[in-house]
Amino acid sequence: MDTSKLTKFYKKTHEEKVSALKEAGVISLEEATLLTEKGLDLDPSVGEHMIENHIGNYSLPLGVSTNFVIDDKEVLVPMAIEEPSVIAAASFAAKIIGSAGGFTTAVTDRLMIGQVTLKNVEHIENAIFEIEKAEQTILERANEAHPSIVKRGGGAKSLETRVLKADPEEGTPAFLVVHLHIDTQEAMGANIVNTMMEGIAPYIEELTGGKALLRILSNYATECLATATCTIPAHKLKTGTYSGEDVRDRIIEAAQVAWADPYRAVTHNKGIMNGVDAVVIASGNDWRAIEAGSHAYAARSRQYRALSKWHANDQGDLVGTLTLPLAVGTVGGSISIHPGAKLARKILMDPDAKRLESILVSVGLAQNFAAVRALVTDGIQKGHMGLHARSLAISAGAKGPQVEKVAEQLKQAPHMNLQTARDFLKELL
Ligand code: NDP
Repeated sequence: MDTSKLTKFYKKTHEEKVSALKEAGVISLEEATLLTEKGLDLDPSVGEHMIENHIGNYSLPLGVSTNFVIDDKEVLVPMAIEEPSVIAAASFAAKIIGSAGGFTTAVTDRLMIGQVTLKNVEHIENAIFEIEKAEQTILERANEAHPSIVKRGGGAKSLETRVLKADPEEGTPAFLVVHLHIDTQEAMGANIVNTMMEGIAPYIEELTGGKALLRILSNYATECLATATCTIPAHKLKTGTYSGEDVRDRIIEAAQVAWADPYRAVTHNKGIMNGVDAVVIASGNDWRAIEAGSHAYAARSRQYRALSKWHANDQGDLVGTLTLPLAVGTVGGSISIHPGAKLARKILMDPDAKRLESILVSVGLAQNFAAVRALVTDGIQKGHMGLHARSLAISAGAKGPQVEKVAEQLKQAPHMNLQTARDFLKELL
């Protein structure tokens, strides 16, 4: 990728942006033509096979975040999102972090969790003994239910049991849960795992005398974690009002608040997911799964907490860390069907699932840094309102160059709302 062609990307027109992507070697001539002429909409004949009662497509803006250096490799990050300022914030954070060496990531093995949940198990201890004794056979039967993933080098790898204790106060009986850890290779794996769980349930019933109530993957993907770290020298954090050390300390304190206070943690984590979701959506992955898993991970200590941590190292640099469960895939689902997902994959330079995890967790950390830095310095409204002004101008009916003109006036106005935007537009017409 020739990043020199992407300088001041945000200032270019749409045509110039597309042509810069082509000149930088990110997309082909065909893909550039797709972006400038046909667009990335799903063909209706495809859409109607993807969901039921299909009546049309619902599109989101697709943009790219610039400046990301992840594990020493530059990457442009496609993001599908309707919220203004997310892409600008990610690019801004990535620039500061990139100038300090970029993001370093670590990704665990990609093991998905499948659950068979049993009820009516009379002798739980005995059932656990039988399951553990039959572990190899259970794994073999799971693999027989989806042999192609074994041929691809994956498959069921190990098993564990969990007991959900009876709670007489809540009126719940005990349940016995069997977890299988399954290597789904490049797939997110929901269908693979669900097929396996349905395949092994009758045998597990036989072994335990219980009845299988649920047979499905868990979206709490604790065996598929990705961590990003960044280290930013304090002098790079300086603003017009605050010294670099002040900004560093205020970011650390803000993270401490989000660790201690669930009300703040939810908003802190929402900021992280602004970036993560946008890339998950652009890449054609299941963002509900990533959202659900991430929030559960935030509550792993039994209190909902910040997903990221910020501290100062011995040199006085600001160090940020973020870990997320990221069960994403590079095959399956809509990934190879949706034209937007195919283009996003190309822009991301054809990552494998681990690299995609690294990119996602780094974007989450960048987004968090940008949001918290803005919060503890100028406040986030300064950056947000400029972009919000454009949305209001468009809502008021402004078109083409009118959008900027109305937005500029709105930024100076004492009350920025739709009525004011309409009034400014009327004056222009
Ligand atoms: P798919 O079943 O769509 O695709 C996975 C298949 O791709 C594999 O079974 C494999 O089939 C094939 N494949 C090709 N190359 C590879 C490779 N290198 N590594 C692994 N597999 C490969 O997708 P998933 O099983 O990943 O399921 C994801 C979908 O399930 C998403 O659309 C999700 O929204 C949905 N879903 C999610 C649920 C949840 O999150 N709770 C529940 C139910 C569905 P083969 O080897 O036979 O060629």
